[in-house]
Amino acid sequence: MSFDTLGLLPELLRAVREQGYENPTPIQEQAIPLVLAGRDLMGRAQTGTGKTAGFTLPLLQMLAPSANTSASPARHPIRALILTPTRELALQVEESVRTYGKYIPLRSTTIFGGVNINPQTKALRAGVEIVVATPGRLLDHHQQGNLNFSHLDVLILDEADRMLDMGFIRDIQKILNLLPAKRQTLLFSATFTDEIKQLASKFLKDPATVQITPTNTAAELVRQVVHPVDRERKRALLAHLIQSRNLSQVLVFTRTKHGANRLSEQLDKDGINSMAIHGNKSQPQRIKALEDFKNGNVRVLVATDIAARGLDIDMLPHVVNFELPQVAEDYIHRIGRTGRAGAEGEALSLVCVDEHRLLKDIEKLLRKDLPKDVIQGYAPDPSIPAEPIQTGRQGGGGGGGRGHGPARGPRPGGAPARSGGGRPSARPGARGK
Ligand code: AMP
Repeated sequence: MSFDTLGLLPELLRAVREQGYENPTPIQEQAIPLVLAGRDLMGRAQTGTGKTAGFTLPLLQMLAPSANTSASPARHPIRALILTPTRELALQVEESVRTYGKYIPLRSTTIFGGVNINPQTKALRAGVEIVVATPGRLLDHHQQGNLNFSHLDVLILDEADRMLDMGFIRDIQKILNLLPAKRQTLLFSATFTDEIKQLASKFLKDPATVQITPTNTAAELVRQVVHPVDRERKRALLAHLIQSRNLSQVLVFTRTKHGANRLSEQLDKDGINSMAIHGNKSQPQRIKALEDFKNGNVRVLVATDIAARGLDIDMLPHVVNFELPQVAEDYIHRIGRTGRAGAEGEALSLVCVDEHRLLKDIEKLLRKDLPKDVIQGYAPDPSIPAEPIQTGRQGGGGGGGRGHGPARGPRPGGAPARSGGGRPSARPGARGK
């Protein structure tokens, strides 16, 4: 199927062509006509499936008739709200809005915490049709009287499961109560848990469902291998793999912020240029790290799950799970960074004796066993007993944007508001149960 058959405006087709996309991805093929038909939608799809264009293209098309170049704020009321769990995802989604909306004069802006609120207020007051926001800061703007949703037509909840994991449920409910009842609502989530279904049944009207399961997306194109290794020898094995195979552009996942920092420092000592990216880094620091990684100045980017959400890195060749995630679904998110939109990639997992249960959970979710490859000289010592997994304080999964953290007023460096990085409901440890 080609994009031409989806009934999109020439302005959108032109922007899509300029991106070099030849054909719509499965989620785009299914979602675009439903959204254009005005249906509410539940989309099950993770990063890497092309879901952002799947909702952005029809959204832009629906708003296009009222696009105008007037300077009057009244001519640019808020028509669409896109809620995301993290600032990175908000930035990425808004970049997509700009990219695909290049030839349509609609205004868009991002709203998230951890940065000065004033420029956001200015943008809102000037008039903006599409607002991409994290929940906490959006509510701050509401309290300050900066938002008028009376002309809103469309609400999109992106990565809804992650928003719930991060404890945003009450904020989301508050926001939903501010919006006109007559609207179109789209909900995207990597998983359809009972909680998500509950949320959907409350706020979506007769939704159509579109499901892109992991098995027919990126996961299929990604060569996945498990390297069994001892806990204490993971770093040496990682350095060995990178150096012996001359790998570059390697995205490495750790469970905690502290672990990300430590690993990055150690890799540097091994002569492997690396940087860590997580919730304690300021927004400019993260953007710089990402740019250096994309342009090849940094060979290895060490990230926590939350920090990596929403990073738009195309066709990443290598993803390494230095530690397996506590929640099996996060494995799918992680490997979704590679083999994106048709490109092949590989995902290596360094697995020690402590993580056998986590590996089983992942294999269950994938409905297949992952191949195991013991690297010569790194075979695990069977006499080493399993130990409980250290998840850091409050699970410390690296929560950029976790809970209310970054969404509450400017804090230098975007550091979490409280030690422990968020409110109690944001404990990642609580998610896997
Ligand atoms: P997403 O799942 O929205 O994060 O998108 C994943 C990546 O796929 C992004 O880098 C997009 O630029 C890219 N992409 C989206 N749609 C297509 C398409 N139809 N063909 C090729 N690449 C695409």
